[in-house]
Amino acid sequence: MRPFRFRLASDRAQALAAADVPGERSAASHIGAPAQYLAGGTTLVDLMKLDVMRPEVLVDINALARQHGAIELAPDGLRLGALARMADVADHPQVRRDYPVIAQSLELAASPQLRNMASLGGNVLQRTRCNYFRDVSYEACNKRNPGSGCAAMDGVNRRLAVLGVSDACIANYPGDFAVALAALGASVDVEGRAGRRVLAFEDLHRLPGAAPHVETNLAPGELITGFSVPAGPWTRRSLYLKVRDRESYEFALASAAVALDLDGGTVRDARVGLGGVAAKPWRSAEAERVLRGRPFSEAVARQAAEAAFAGAVAHEQTRFKIELGRRTLARALAQCAAMEA
Ligand code: FAD
Ligand code: SF4
Repeated sequence: MRPFRFRLASDRAQALAAADVPGERSAASHIGAPAQYLAGGTTLVDLMKLDVMRPEVLVDINALARQHGAIELAPDGLRLGALARMADVADHPQVRRDYPVIAQSLELAASPQLRNMASLGGNVLQRTRCNYFRDVSYEACNKRNPGSGCAAMDGVNRRLAVLGVSDACIANYPGDFAVALAALGASVDVEGRAGRRVLAFEDLHRLPGAAPHVETNLAPGELITGFSVPAGPWTRRSLYLKVRDRESYEFALASAAVALDLDGGTVRDARVGLGGVAAKPWRSAEAERVLRGRPFSEAVARQAAEAAFAGAVAHEQTRFKIELGRRTLARALAQCAAMEA
């Protein structure tokens, strides 16, 4: 691992000041910036050991859990501090009852040890598990080494994306919780040198386009302080279905975060997110449109799944992910419709 400077922040102002180092303001994105916030460290430290991320300064923000670690349920929605731990949110009885899709997306991720360490803010900013991105002995990776090409296009790409890909990068976004946030129309609070702002969660991550190394719309040094999930008649009838190579301690090949508001057997409203298959946490407005106003049936669920993947682009080893993704979504919708809510 390369040498770095370590700074401890005890509040937001100290964190922002500690991250304001030479080169920070001119970095192309927060992810390539010379200062990185350290929360659980469960992915950042791995990437530093692999020499994929090379921050000069680490700003430990764990003390900010006092101001930004709460889990609060209110009539208008769920508020989650960025420093809340994955395990605490997954185990929270009211989150499990009122927002099961949120609790399940966290419970089905990583391992108990990781969930005890890892924060929500760090979780949404985890990076792709594309083999070539994580192995610096490969030069061709536009995300790690802009303009160098993409070794995955004709290489090992079985786990990568079919939605939102570009000619420059076909990496998938690997996380689970972010898919539930995207589906439920959450927002994210951030604070930087220019002040505070609120982003729609769907706008936090960027599609790769011609610049896959710019992964989010966060400015260098911006700190995520929390997430807000709006209440809705669909949140109690919601679930996260994750399909993977083994049943635990594994990333999704395909996943679906779904929520339904049913009037008898008819879908009044629906929320649909897809994971494992897309370049960013993916909300499928197409699937939601198919479902809205229709009597629910397995045939309608399948039509929604077809619509969700209508724009999919497959490569040699990712072809199977289109049908796997459709079946995962159709099954998630059927299970969700059958829930007692
Ligand atoms: P850190 O490692 O501390 O930080 C990650 C990044 O986020 C860094 O760039 C950091 O600077 C930045 N950051 C952190 N907090 C903030 C903030 N508040 N504001 C701005 N920037 C911030 N995840 C899944 O979703 N599903 C899985 O199945 C899964 N399996 C895993 C299996 C393994 C073996 C491992 C190692 C990880 C797995 N993960 C999985 C990823 C895991 O969930 C993440 O490592 C974890 O959530 C990251 O959180 P952290 O607090 O440790 O982040
Ligand atoms: Fe790099 Fe993206 Fe290609 Fe993977 S798919 S090698 S992350 S450019």
